[in-house]
Amino acid sequence: MSAEVFYRAMGLSGYWVVDVWESRGGEIEVLVEPPRESLCCRACRSRRVHVHERKLRSWKDTPFAAKPVWIVMQSPRVRCLNCGAKTWHQPKFARGQKRYTKNFESHVCRCLSRVTIQDVVETCGLSWDTVAEIDQRRLKRLGRPDLRGLQRLAIDEVHVGKLHRFLTLVYDLDSGAIVSVSKGRGQKALTPFFSRLKRARVTIKAVATDMAGGYIAAVMKHLWPTQLVFDRFHVVKLMNEKLSTLRREMYRELKDVQQRDVLKGVRWLLRKNPENLKQTPRGDERSRLTAALKLNEPLAQAYYLKDELRQFWQQSSKATAAKFLDGWCSRAEATGIKVLRTMSHTLRGHRVGLLNWYDHPISTGPLEGTNNKIGLLQRRAYGYRRYDHFKLRLLTLHHAKFTLAG
Ligand SMILES: [Zn+2]
Repeated sequence: MSAEVFYRAMGLSGYWVVDVWESRGGEIEVLVEPPRESLCCRACRSRRVHVHERKLRSWKDTPFAAKPVWIVMQSPRVRCLNCGAKTWHQPKFARGQKRYTKNFESHVCRCLSRVTIQDVVETCGLSWDTVAEIDQRRLKRLGRPDLRGLQRLAIDEVHVGKLHRFLTLVYDLDSGAIVSVSKGRGQKALTPFFSRLKRARVTIKAVATDMAGGYIAAVMKHLWPTQLVFDRFHVVKLMNEKLSTLRREMYRELKDVQQRDVLKGVRWLLRKNPENLKQTPRGDERSRLTAALKLNEPLAQAYYLKDELRQFWQQSSKATAAKFLDGWCSRAEATGIKVLRTMSHTLRGHRVGLLNWYDHPISTGPLEGTNNKIGLLQRRAYGYRRYDHFKLRLLTLHHAKFTLAG
């Protein structure tokens, strides 16, 4: 085996290796020279060229035996006898004007699929911008999401603190991949993606979303006749919010300090599902809640209606679910409590989308995992200083090999 094997692996085939030495700083430098016959004009590809000038240049290469490696060359600039252009020699082992080799870029890419940008900056001795640039090229290569075959989508929004903005995300519920990232919220944010779907002649069967007006309008306008399914978790969350509002109102009205304390203590218990109530150092959650509910009839009514609402998704068929929903709404209205009346009004207004769950039992629930990943991406400063870069990262999140935890 000769050193030739190494040079070939370094992408130096076709070059003369003039010398190899170790610098005082412990770096390996490989001096190369392009053979005269390989020189050509970059404008017209003619080989009838003269070397016009030379400049010493170096390219960072993949480390060898834990030592940094540089490829050094008296880079020639040639004058073309055919077209007169003066062009610098483009080495085969590097891309364009980059000061690192293609091999080194692949090495950085392999690292980036496992560790953070900051880690690579520190271990490879590159600038932040260089690593971010390589990462963006890598993520772009991972590909734009394939829209063909999309059937069931979920729409949700996340707030990205580092970028000071809301992003609207669209997920493919079948693969778990994020297929669209756009700035802002509501109809406007979704229009470009929906237009792309239309152009690609994709027929979406069902979309899960919350009951916010913006997304509904966008789906109705662009994806008709797609079935819209209102996410059950968002519905339950809304009901919990109504319950909190009611508790606050009741609390304000109460004069008795002791009673106020009882009500104050159950703020979080009201949100819990009954089966999740536990024994805690502060006492039995169930009995504390019962005491508070006894104290206050409207709150008790609302609490039991909230618990009952969950059964909407456990009916045996769409028809019984429809009956159940109408019954629930009537009972809520009959209480005469304002927040329950508004909840009933909201549910009646979104009846079709709620019942569609029985045709497509989908929700934005599976996105929770992805949303957690996004949170971790931000918190652990994976380093997305620019929106475009962060967007690419989200679109390729399902390719992520490194564990986000810990
Ligand atoms: Zn030329």
